[in-house]
Amino acid sequence: MHQTMTPTEAWRRAAERAHTDHIEILRDEAGGWHATSGRDPQRTYELDVAGNVARGCTCMAGALEREACKHRAAFYVATGAIPAPPEADPALAPFVAEARAAGVAEPDLAGFARYLQDLATRCPECGGGGILYSRYCEGTGWPYPTCHVCGGTGRCNTNSH
Ligand SMILES: [Zn+2]
Ligand SMILES: [Zn+2]
Repeated sequence: MHQTMTPTEAWRRAAERAHTDHIEILRDEAGGWHATSGRDPQRTYELDVAGNVARGCTCMAGALEREACKHRAAFYVATGAIPAPPEADPALAPFVAEARAAGVAEPDLAGFARYLQDLATRCPECGGGGILYSRYCEGTGWPYPTCHVCGGTGRCNTNSH
């Protein structure tokens, strides 16, 4: 599982650590940027920010001039430069955990979000099929009746409520 990490990958992982360690971004009265420490709630690290770029951090990784640290990543998530990790979306969290456990490095989050959307708009009566099961029809080979709730579309009309 040891692959060379691309810079993007390094930042994405740093953003995930920032999320799990609850790193918060603070701003002082002089306009300076700080990040809370994951371990010590009393401690903050100072970020060297120029424009929208966090060039340095007073943490260990920053002192070693590593490309990414979770404090700078938290800054980028706060400014929207790095998308928030999927774990931050409670609807996606179980899916991400399951996918990772199954060894999927990059879960299809967009696809799963669409799936959730699909579930939410599915007709509760027919389950999205647009027809209603009928034992009689099954026995006789007649077509199943169209769902009376969604009119056969399989979608519930969310505007009608
Ligand atoms: Zn740092
Ligand atoms: Zn229906």
